[in-house]
Amino acid sequence: MAIYNPKSKKAEEFINDAEILETLAYAEANKNNVALIDEILDKARPKKTEAGYTCAGLSHREASVLLACDIPEKVEEIYRIAEEIKLAFYGNRIVIFAPLYLSNYCVNGCVYCPYHHQNKCIPRKKLTQDEVRAEVIALQDMGHKRLAIESGEDPVNNPIEYILECIKTIYSVHHKNGDIRRVNVNIAATTVENYRKLKEAGIGTYILFQETYHKESYETLHPTGPKHNYAYHTEAMDRAMEGGIDDVGLGVLFGLELYKYEFAGLLMHAEHLEAVFGVGPHTISVPRLKRADDINPDDFDNGIDDDTFAKITACIRLAVPYTGMIISTRESEEVRSRLLKLGISQVSGGSRTSVGGYTTEERPHDTEQFDVSDQRSLDEVVRWLMENGHIPSFCTACYREGRTGDRFMSLCKSGQILNCCHPNALMTLSEYLEDYASDATKEVGYATIERELERIPKEKVKEIAKQNIADIKNSNRRDFRF
Ligand code: SF4
Ligand code: SF4
Repeated sequence: MAIYNPKSKKAEEFINDAEILETLAYAEANKNNVALIDEILDKARPKKTEAGYTCAGLSHREASVLLACDIPEKVEEIYRIAEEIKLAFYGNRIVIFAPLYLSNYCVNGCVYCPYHHQNKCIPRKKLTQDEVRAEVIALQDMGHKRLAIESGEDPVNNPIEYILECIKTIYSVHHKNGDIRRVNVNIAATTVENYRKLKEAGIGTYILFQETYHKESYETLHPTGPKHNYAYHTEAMDRAMEGGIDDVGLGVLFGLELYKYEFAGLLMHAEHLEAVFGVGPHTISVPRLKRADDINPDDFDNGIDDDTFAKITACIRLAVPYTGMIISTRESEEVRSRLLKLGISQVSGGSRTSVGGYTTEERPHDTEQFDVSDQRSLDEVVRWLMENGHIPSFCTACYREGRTGDRFMSLCKSGQILNCCHPNALMTLSEYLEDYASDATKEVGYATIERELERIPKEKVKEIAKQNIADIKNSNRRDFRF
C-alpha cells in the first residue's frame, strides 16, 4: 500500500488516498470543535508586518476542517478572512485573460467533455497559422494582452510542434497598439523535453487540470486514450517544473467526485510542489462541470451548489494565500461577483470556447467545449468590475521582467503590491481605455484611475505612474511597467 509522502515523486504517495480519507474523517470529527476551528481561523488571518502583511496558510487537514464546518458564524468568519487575504495580497485588482482554442481534435475519451474521441457529431477543427493570426487580431482588438491557449490531445493533429508554432505566431502579431504579452498554455500532460520546449517558446503558466484526484473515478472518467494513465497525468507538474516551467496552474473539475475529497487532494498537490520545488502553484482554477454538446451535468451525481462553491473558494484562499485563483465564464455574472470578493484574482472576459470563435460574428456553438454562462463583452466586463470597486488589470509585468516562480512569490510576500501591481494595473487599464473602451467605460475608467492613483504609497512611484498614463493618453507609447 502506498504511504503518504509529500516529497515523493510518485502520484499515489503525494496524493495519497488513505491520507485523504483520514483527513476527511478528521474534518468530520472536528467540524463542531469550536476551539480547534478558532485556532485554525487565527492561523489563517493575515498578520501585519513592517513591509505589509504575511499569511501562514493552512495545511490540507486544517483547511478541510473549515470546509466541513457548518456553524453559521464560523462560516461567516471564513468569508471575512478570505476577503481580508484577498485585499492584503491582491488589493482590488482583477487580472483579465481570454482562452484561445486552437484545436478540438482529441484522442482521449473524457466522459465529461464534448471533444472526447467518440463524439462523432461535433465538427473537428484545427486553426491554421493564418487563422491563429486572425483570432489574435480579434482578441487584440477587444483589448486582451494575456491568453490561455487550449488544445485537445492528438499527437497527429496537434503535436507539440504545432503548439509551438501557434505560440510563435501569437507573439508575432502586433495589430495597431495591440500585442499579446503572456501566453499561458493548457495542453495535455507531456514529457520533460516538451515542457522544456514550451519554456523556451516563452510561455507564462502551464495549466493542467487534474479533473479528479480520486484514482478510481479518474480511471472511469477517462476510459480511453493516454489521459487514462492517472500517474502520468498527476505527475505532469513535476515534469513541467523539471523542464524549467516554474509557474504552474492546478485545478479540478468540481462536480465529478465528492468535493471534499477533491479539495484535500488539490491542497496536497500544492503542498507537494512546495515540498519538492520550494514553490507552490502559481494559480488554482475552480471550474464546475457545465452543459455542452453531448454532456449533461445532471448525469454526474456530485454537482455542487453556489454556496458550497463559495465556501470552497474561500477555504482555498485561506489555505494558499499566495496562489492566484481563476474563475472562467463558465460561471454567471452573479456567481463571479460573489467569488471575486472571496479570493478570485483572475477572470476571463468576452470568452469564446470554440475553435475559431473570435472571428465569427455570432457566438458559434457547434465546436464549443462548454456553454458560456457569462456572455458579456470584454468592455461590459471591464466596466462592471470597476462599477463594483475592482480594478481590471491587463498587467503582465512579472512575466516580462522574469519575476516567475519564487521571484514572483517574494514580490507577493514583500508587501510591494501597492507600489508595483497597483500602478501596473492602472497603466494597463489606461491603455485599454485609450485603445479599446466604449465612451461609458472610459468615463468610469478614468474616474477609477484618478481615485486609485492616490493610493500608491511611494510618491516617486505615483509621479512616474501619472506621467506614464499621460503619455499613454497623448501618444502611442505603450507597455510601461514597474
Ligand atoms: S478534456 Fe481535454 S483531453 Fe479530455 S476530451 Fe476534452 S479536450 Fe480531450
Ligand atoms: S506586477 Fe506581477 S504580480 Fe503584480 S499584477 Fe503584474 S504580473 Fe501580477
